[in-house]
This record gives sequence, structure tokens and C-alpha cells, in this order.
Amino acid sequence: MKFTQAMQDAINAQIKLEMWSANLYLSMAMHFAKNGLDGFAHWYKKQSEEELTHAYDMMNYIVLRGGEVKIEAIPEVENNFGSYLSIVEKAYEHECLVSEKIEEMVRIASVEKDMASQDFFWKYIREQVEEEATASGLVDRVRMAEGHAIIFLDKELASRK
Ligand code: MG
Repeated sequence: MKFTQAMQDAINAQIKLEMWSANLYLSMAMHFAKNGLDGFAHWYKKQSEEELTHAYDMMNYIVLRGGEVKIEAIPEVENNFGSYLSIVEKAYEHECLVSEKIEEMVRIASVEKDMASQDFFWKYIREQVEEEATASGLVDRVRMAEGHAIIFLDKELASRK
């Protein structure tokens, strides 16, 4: 099976985005921690760790295909956040962007006639359905919680494994 330069470049770009996502969620986690919402902080730190596992999985895949992993500089992420609602909304928007990028990966794999890479990224297509639903659910619940009730949601988010 042929692993093309175009496919390799696209996956390396996706790795960079996954690592950027990890930093974005880590930044959100630290913002919540600073404001005493330890459950949210824990939840977003877990989310950050998950993004890194995606990056590692993609790196491993490139190596498996005999390609070359390129670790690029990661642009700075936001450090100043507004309301809690605006943060969870931003996280949801970001997941929608990631979904578009993953769809693009399957499209590129199709153009490159790289069935193995198509198969590899289909699992991420499925995963993004879950990610979008989870992120959008969190937006709904933060909206419902409003003011002080957010503390109960915080307690629940603390239990993420
Ligand atoms: Mg990801």
C-alpha cells in the first residue's frame, strides 16, 4: 500500500491541530481551576489528555506506514476567557472545526487512493459524533445551570475517568 507525501503532510498537520487542541483545553482547565471550579478543571484536563492520545495515535500511524513524523511549533492558544458559558461554547465550536478537518482527512485519503488511511480516519469520524454531542450537551447544561447551580454541575464533572 502506497503512503503518499500528500497524505503524510495532511496527517502531520492534523497532529499539530490535535496538540493545539490539547493546549486549548489545558488553558480552559487552568482558567476553571483559577476560579475554583475544580470539576470543570478536571474535565477539561482529561479532554486535553485525550487530544494528546489522538496526536500520539496519528504519530504511531505515520511510523507504521513507513512515513516521517514532523513535530511542528504549536501556535499560542487563548488565555483570556469570558463567561463559563462562552468557554463551553468555544469548546463546542472547536469540536465542530475538528470534525471538518477529520472529514477532510478522509477526503484526502480517498483522493490519494489510500484505503488504509481512510479506514484509520473513519474511527475519528465516529469519535467526532460523540465529541460534538458531549460538547453541545455541556453547553445546554451550563446554560440551564446559570448562576450558582453551576457548582452542582462542577461536582458531576469531577467524576470523569
Ligand atoms: Mg481530537
